[in-house]
Order: sequence, then C-alpha cells, then structure tokens
Amino acid sequence: MFEKYLGNEKIKEIFTHTIETQNILHSYLLVGIEGIGKKLFAQEFAKKILCLESSTKEDSCKSCIEFANHNHPDFMIIEPEEGKAIKIEQIRFMQQKILEKPIISTKKVYILNDCEKMTKEAQNCLLKTLEEPPEYAVLLLITSNENKILNTIKSRCVKIAFQPINEETIQKWLGETQITTMIKACEGSMGKLMKIKEEQEIYQQVEEMISHIKEQNLLQTWKQAEILYKQKDNIQDILNYMNQVLMQQKQIPYIHCISDVENTKRKILANNNYEMSIDNLIMQMWEKIHK
Ligand SMILES: [Zn+2]
Repeated sequence: MFEKYLGNEKIKEIFTHTIETQNILHSYLLVGIEGIGKKLFAQEFAKKILCLESSTKEDSCKSCIEFANHNHPDFMIIEPEEGKAIKIEQIRFMQQKILEKPIISTKKVYILNDCEKMTKEAQNCLLKTLEEPPEYAVLLLITSNENKILNTIKSRCVKIAFQPINEETIQKWLGETQITTMIKACEGSMGKLMKIKEEQEIYQQVEEMISHIKEQNLLQTWKQAEILYKQKDNIQDILNYMNQVLMQQKQIPYIHCISDVENTKRKILANNNYEMSIDNLIMQMWEKIHK
C-alpha cells in the first residue's frame, strides 16, 4: 500500500494498519503543506477502505475497478467550486447522498479537499454529519491551513499530520546531485517540485545570469535576464528562487540584492509596471555586485 508515494512513512503505516485491522473511524483531518500528496494518500486510503478483498495487494475487485474508473457510487470528492469556496449547497448535497446506503462496498467515503475553503455556513452544516455520521460513513477532510477550520470540526476528526518530504528522499528520487537549490526551493512539496522541474530551464538561466553577473557588463546581464521579461505568470516563484541562488553565493553584495528582489516582488504584486520593475531590479543587482 502507498508504495508509489514518497515520504511520510509513519502515515503509510497508520493507514495500512487501519485497513488491516479494519479499525476505520468516521472522520479524519489530513493536514500539511500544499503539494505534499495529501489528496493522493486520501484517495488510496479511500480505495482500500472500499475494497471488497481482505488482501491489501489486489486491485481486482469490483470496488477497485469502479474506483479506478472514477465511477464508484460509494465515493465522492468535494472540492471548492472554481477553486474558490466549498459552499453550503455542496455540503447539503453530500449530506443527502451520504444517507443512501452503500451500493458496492460496506462503507461510503467522502473526501473534502481544501476544506479550509469551506464557508462558515458550510462548516457549521458539515458539523451535523460529523456529530452523527451514518455508521458506514467515512469522511476524509484535507487542508493546508487548519487555522481556518472550526475547532468544533477539528475536535471531531482524527488529525493526521503530513511532514514535508525530506531533502534526502527528494534527492534520491531525482537521482541527481547538482540540484540542491531546487530541493531547497520546493520546501518539501512534491507539487512545487514538479512545477520547478518543468521550469528547470528557466531556473537554470536565472542561475547562470546570477553566477556571471560579476564578469559581465550591464548590457550582457540584461541580455541574460531576458527570460524574466517573458515569465510574468511565474515571476513570484522565479524571484523566490533567485533569492535562494543569491543566498548560496555567500557573499555580502549578493546577500544585499535579496532586499531588491523582495521589493520587486512587492512592486509586481502591487501592479507596478512589470518591465520597469524588472529593469530596475537588474540594474540594482548589477550595481551592487560591481561595487
Ligand atoms: Zn479491491
């Protein structure tokens, strides 16, 4: 079970033990930073809860097949509509559905993803189900910000805390050694790492630009920084990465540039002229490093 997921060995053990002993509780709260695999874990856990076979290896029963086809009548994922909010109507719909007895499996499993995005009303409404769940119901609440969840909800769930995946594990998975910066920048989040990996080329150019800035004139540096002008959508991530690279130079002028990068981040967020903000940043960095 959970072989394909990186890290969080303790949680794998807990879930595997839960399945093996069939000691399944009514509600769990999965907590941890974004992109760490909480939803994947929850789905795998759900699949195993619903599975009709006692062996934890086989995936061939009717339940597992329907699950793989996203067609399982006893399973549902509730997520924020358009990524914004989980509304009371969604919770009410779930509550209607949950009252119908399971069709294939002996349990029904509902995942509430990003449940910090539940409105207050939705949370209060959900409380009723958590207080008196049908005996076959299992709710898996997922959140990256448990501070936004009512204490009354939290107190009725078993909390499962996911840890950021450690650098060693990520490095092993990547199978390379020259990418320490990337590993640091992802902060233990696989989702973020995948994104960074995709953007690796961009990041490499940023790294090159910084490492050559000292021996190049302003015009050359500008040319190397060209990529920044084309990456408006990702610029906050790229600038964060730039700070990591600057920090790794371990020299005062580079460290001083970090405040310029931070200023640029703010300016762009405040909708200042994009090109001009980048222009200024490159100029300030170049001047500081050439002092
Ligand atoms: Zn099965």
